Amino acid sequence: MTISRNEALALDRDDALAQHKQLFDLPAGMIYLDGNSLGPLPHATAQRLQQVVYEEWGRGLIGSWNSAHWVSLPERIGDKIARLVGAAPGELVVADSTSVNAYKALGAALPLALAARPERRVVLSERHNFPTDLYIAQSLARQHGCDLVLVDEPGQIGPLLDEGNVAVLMLTHVNYRSGRMHDMAALNRRARAQSTLTLWDLAHSAGAVPVDLNGDDADFAIGCGYKYLNGGPGAPAFVWAHQRHAAHCVQPLSGWFGHAAPFAFHSDYAPAPGSRRFLCGTPPVLAMAALECGVDSVLSAGGMAALRRKSLALSSLFIDLVDARCGGHGLALVTPRADALRGSQVSLVHPDAAYPIMQALIAHGVVGDFRAPDILRFGFTPLYTGFADVWDAVDMLSGILASGEWRKPSYAERRAVT
Ligand SMILES: *Cc1c(COP(=O)(O)O)cnc(C)c1O
Repeated sequence: MTISRNEALALDRDDALAQHKQLFDLPAGMIYLDGNSLGPLPHATAQRLQQVVYEEWGRGLIGSWNSAHWVSLPERIGDKIARLVGAAPGELVVADSTSVNAYKALGAALPLALAARPERRVVLSERHNFPTDLYIAQSLARQHGCDLVLVDEPGQIGPLLDEGNVAVLMLTHVNYRSGRMHDMAALNRRARAQSTLTLWDLAHSAGAVPVDLNGDDADFAIGCGYKYLNGGPGAPAFVWAHQRHAAHCVQPLSGWFGHAAPFAFHSDYAPAPGSRRFLCGTPPVLAMAALECGVDSVLSAGGMAALRRKSLALSSLFIDLVDARCGGHGLALVTPRADALRGSQVSLVHPDAAYPIMQALIAHGVVGDFRAPDILRFGFTPLYTGFADVWDAVDMLSGILASGEWRKPSYAERRAVT
C-alpha cells in the first residue's frame, strides 16, 4: 500500500515531531538520510561551542574545570544518555571512542566471566558485526587465551549459547549493514541461563530505538555519540556496566580520570566506585559540549516511544514505496520487514551498482551511504525527516533507476569515505 505525495504532506502536517527539524542547521534542498552515520548540526551546538571557547576556556581558563563543571561532564552527559537506553543515573559515562570503549568493556567482562568459569573460552559475535568490534574482540580473545567464534546467521546465536561454552556474547544491537535488530531481552535471558555475560554495542540504537538495559538485564553496553545522538564528527562515546559489575570489575585502561581520587595523585591505582572507573584520561571538553547539545536535541522529543513510532512509519513508507516504484532494476531489500526486527535504517542491496546509484542520489541531494560490497543504506531520523522527504527520496531513486543516470562514469569514482 502506498500513498501520494499529497498524502505524505498531510502526514507531515499532523506530525507532532515535525517542528523539531528547526533545531538543526540542515542544508536547504537536501534530504539527509545519513543521520545513522553522522547526525546533523543542531543550531544550539554552534552557539554553545562559542560560549565554551570564548567564555569558559578564554576567560575562565583552568578555573572552568570547577566553575563550569567540566570535570563532571562525563557523568552529566552520561546521565542524559542513560535516559535514552534504560540506565539509571550514575551508571553510564561518556568517554573515548566506541572502539576504545569496546576494549574497556570487553576487557572488563572477559576476566569476570573467566574467573567464574575458567573452562569456557569463547567470545561469541557475528561475522557481520561492525569490524572495529571484531578487531577489538580478536585482540582481547588472543590476550586471554580465548577463541572468537563468529556466526553467519542471527538464528545460530541462541543454540550456541545453550551449549554453555560462551564466556561473553558481544553483539551490536542493530546491525550497521542490514538494519536488523536483535531481541536484546531474549538473548540476555538465554545468556544468563548459562551465566554468559553480554556486551551490547548500541551505536545504531541510542537515540534510534527504545533500549532498556536494566529492564532487559544486560551486563555491559557501549555506544556512539555522533550517529543518532547528533554529537558531531568523532564525538565521544559512552560505556555502561550493570550495577552488579560496576563496583568490582577491572577495566584494562586504568588511567587517572578513572581513579577514585584523581587529584590526590597517588602512585597506586584505585578505581573510582561505579562506572566512573571506565574513564581513562582527561575528557575532551569541546567535543563533550557539542555532544551534550546533540543529546539534548534527542531528549527534546519527549521520549523514545514517539521517536520509534515515527521512525517505523517512515521506514515502512520507504519500503512500501520502493516495492511499488523501484522494481525490475535488481534492487532487493536486506532489512527485515517486521517492525520488531528493524532498527531505524533500511538497507537495499544491488549486486553491481550500489555505489554509483548512491552517488547519483547524493548528486541530486538525497544523501544516504554505501557499504561495501553492495549495500545502499538509508537512515530514518524522525527529528528532522518528514514523510514527504521519504516520498521525494524514493521518487528520485525511481527516476535514477528508470533513466539509467547512475551509469554516468563520474558516479563510479570511489572516494576515501563511502
Ligand atoms: C559506528 C560504529 C562504531 C564506530 O567506532 P569508532 O570508535 O567511533 O570509530 C563502532 N561500532 C559500531 C557497531 C558502529 O556502528
